Amino acid sequence: MLQSCDLLIEAGWVVPIEPHGVVLEDHAVAVSGGEILAVLPAAEARARFQPAETVSRPGSVLIPGLVNAHTHNPMNLLRGIADDLPLMTWLQEHIWPVEGAVVGPEFIADGVTLAVAEMLRGGTTCANENYFFPDVEAATYKRLGFRAVVGLPVAQFANAWAASEEEYFDKAIQVHDQWRDDPLVSLAFVPHAPYTVSDAAFARIRTLSDQLDLQVHLHTHETEQEVVDSQRDHGQRPLARLDRLGLVNERLVAVHMTALTDAEIELCASRGVSVVHCPESNLKLASGFCPVAKLERAGVNLAIGTDGAASNNDLDMFGEMRTAAQLAKAVAGEATAFSAASALRAATLGGAKAIGLDDRIGSIEPGKQADLVLVDMDPLETQPLFNAISQLVYATGRQQVTDVWIAGHRKLDGRDLVDMDAAALLANARQWRGRIATILEQQNR
Ligand SMILES: [Zn+2]
Repeated sequence: MLQSCDLLIEAGWVVPIEPHGVVLEDHAVAVSGGEILAVLPAAEARARFQPAETVSRPGSVLIPGLVNAHTHNPMNLLRGIADDLPLMTWLQEHIWPVEGAVVGPEFIADGVTLAVAEMLRGGTTCANENYFFPDVEAATYKRLGFRAVVGLPVAQFANAWAASEEEYFDKAIQVHDQWRDDPLVSLAFVPHAPYTVSDAAFARIRTLSDQLDLQVHLHTHETEQEVVDSQRDHGQRPLARLDRLGLVNERLVAVHMTALTDAEIELCASRGVSVVHCPESNLKLASGFCPVAKLERAGVNLAIGTDGAASNNDLDMFGEMRTAAQLAKAVAGEATAFSAASALRAATLGGAKAIGLDDRIGSIEPGKQADLVLVDMDPLETQPLFNAISQLVYATGRQQVTDVWIAGHRKLDGRDLVDMDAAALLANARQWRGRIATILEQQNR
């Protein structure tokens, strides 16, 4: 007797991520109740299952949804407002003044919405979000059916979300209480960076992250200058200071991590720290180079993030994977460093592990959530195809993503957004373009 299921996806190739580096030819994935039921040869699947819907794509690769492990998605509305500048000039003279004029609930909701559309069309199904107004972010991701870890921000500077570290904490607890049990939206602490958060606030984050079982998602060692400044202000390198405050552990999701000593790499490995590599943001802001090959050799869990669209300038995880794989080789002086399979793993299961969701997403395995992506390999740009993983990382463009599911729900169908109005998104983006351009003109006067 045939077993019923909601959906059967047959693909020319399935890359499950676990086991590592494996490509399964002519396989199928059965989905029921939003979860992966089975991964098996397509012929066996047809004999075993009676699906309500079958999607058959002999020319496509099926992969787990990509996990963008570091992003500031409301900043999609600031894409391209200030380019070709160093980090501190870019932040202090351009980004922060414009944010001061626009950041509020409407900006957050509209920016996240535009970003979700871009991510879905690029095969990303989960974002590790780091911005302000986590209440609005969480509600927007939930409304759009997009998986996210929303950051609870803490910083010394005041903005429209909070006026003091105390208020950041009060609001963080409120948002946590509201969203603690949601299946799609989870939470993490996002202290902005070591140079904008006090020792007392870090100590409190340490205590609360243990009590509430939350990751701590933090920009650190972004530039050599940050390390020099920390030695001047605190007498310690940022990682040493975080260690003194009890934060260097398996909850730490350390973003950027350029300017690392071998001892710091060993410390991260032994404590189970995850490192999020943002190669394109680091390149664009000339921030430095994350020693990916050394981190991988030491056994550190690696994830990949785009960073915000204002410093990248896109949310393209295919581009990011390729840059990460290529840059790691140049930095290490070893062409064998950070293989295509390692880059794809970092963009899926590595990201899932960093954000504490590796028991639910990041690979195509029975029992995991059906966050799945079909990538069309028929275009001549990806032919002939000898190795699907090599093709995905080194030759595929995000426009080859055709279909996306999150928790078994179809979100992209033949490149069309299923439950979002693309024309309305465009009109909204243009409306923000007008408002922000006026602010830029006033500030440049
Ligand atoms: Zn960032």
